[in-house]
Amino acid sequence: MKTTRIAYSHRLNAGKYAALVEQARRLGRVRSEVWQRYASVGGAWLTDRQVRDRWLAEGTHRQFGVLANAWKETVRDAMADITATFEAAKVPARKAIRRHTSDPAERRRLFGLLKADRWAEDPYLSRLMRSRWRRGHNRTRNQIVVRADQHNTRVDSRGRLWLAVPGLVRRQLVRIPLNTIVAPTGTLRLILRGDRVEIHYQIDAATMKTSQRPCGEATIGVDKGYTETLTDSDGDYHGEGLGHLLTTESDRLKERNRHRAKLRSVANTAAQRGNHAKADRIARNNLGAIKRDRQAGCHQARVRTEIFTAVHQVVDKAGVVVAEDLTKTFTGRKSLGRNTNRRLAAWTKGVTARALKNVSERRGSVLVHVNAAYTSQVCHRCGCLGRRAGDRLHCTSCGVVWQADVNAAINVLRRHGDPDITLHTPYLVVKQIVQARADRHRSRLPLPDSSPARRAESESSEALRNER
Ligand SMILES: [Zn+2]
Repeated sequence: MKTTRIAYSHRLNAGKYAALVEQARRLGRVRSEVWQRYASVGGAWLTDRQVRDRWLAEGTHRQFGVLANAWKETVRDAMADITATFEAAKVPARKAIRRHTSDPAERRRLFGLLKADRWAEDPYLSRLMRSRWRRGHNRTRNQIVVRADQHNTRVDSRGRLWLAVPGLVRRQLVRIPLNTIVAPTGTLRLILRGDRVEIHYQIDAATMKTSQRPCGEATIGVDKGYTETLTDSDGDYHGEGLGHLLTTESDRLKERNRHRAKLRSVANTAAQRGNHAKADRIARNNLGAIKRDRQAGCHQARVRTEIFTAVHQVVDKAGVVVAEDLTKTFTGRKSLGRNTNRRLAAWTKGVTARALKNVSERRGSVLVHVNAAYTSQVCHRCGCLGRRAGDRLHCTSCGVVWQADVNAAINVLRRHGDPDITLHTPYLVVKQIVQARADRHRSRLPLPDSSPARRAESESSEALRNER
């Protein structure tokens, strides 16, 4: 498995930046040409090498004014993007094939043709791909792809790392000072944004230090919260700084947006009165996007670190992690609108989902997704629907107050191997099952008594509460 790393340029001189921007602009034309000519349902059978050979034969490459390696790498990159659009179209096409025929031999034949990119040979498949595939256009004009053997790094006498990449003139490398001491390796993707160069490159996840850490052996259920990233079924909390990070960021954004709105109105008034110099000055100096985007990037990096650390802590003790499928819950939900808090929370959900998948894969633990309907509302001991108040869940049947997140994590763990509630059981059916179980429990235990066993449990819940 590969993961992407990003290095940034540090105080890059404006002349060099402008030269890189010009190179990226010219390579953008290369990309557009590739999309223009080869992004069609009929052209999918060409490889990037064949495109290169054609261009060399026709002399197409001469119009771009870039070095040979630069345009060749760009052609390869753009062809890979086009291939990705076909792969995306194959997903609904496969579904349609399954509806189209139930004959196994015919299905195998169609799937085979699709896999080998030979859909043009069959009229039905050809029609299918034409309707499922969406033609795209190139909008990338700020990227330079540099092949692994075309760049090098050097450390200067003051310990700064410099990355040298080809420019527009042969044998004249552009040297970029970096903000890191880790040299980027392999194929590099330079993205030019906000007077800064981002160097994206991939490393093998297996070589990362955290991938060497073995996973645990327990089977553990986790519940995703807001104040803490994850709560597990043992009653432990992980990533407890998340809530604070999100709240401070949301407050900061609110304040900043208020200031920006005020400045924008000042600029508008000035423009209306004919003072365009002032309006331009405000737009340029106070309402830019560079600093804003950088701050957003910093915050996102901090949240990611918090979440990944939390997931690593869970995997330290778990060989099997049982969790709700956090990628699923987005669908069917209403638009989150302008509410910053909810938007941030929705975004962290996606990060947590990726972290669980990514860390599990790297460290060899198993991630099991379960149906999480009603796990936060049901008492894990008796199965009755409890009453939720803040972070407590009060079960009127047992007369016990649980820590809501811990209770939910235990319920999530039990859904693993639940004979009736599977991942795809509809919400309403889950509700019926949950109620039927609670009724059965009530008829078995008619009195909410205080037998010693029960008192012990309620004391342990008390202990949990005090721990916090
Ligand atoms: Zn109960």
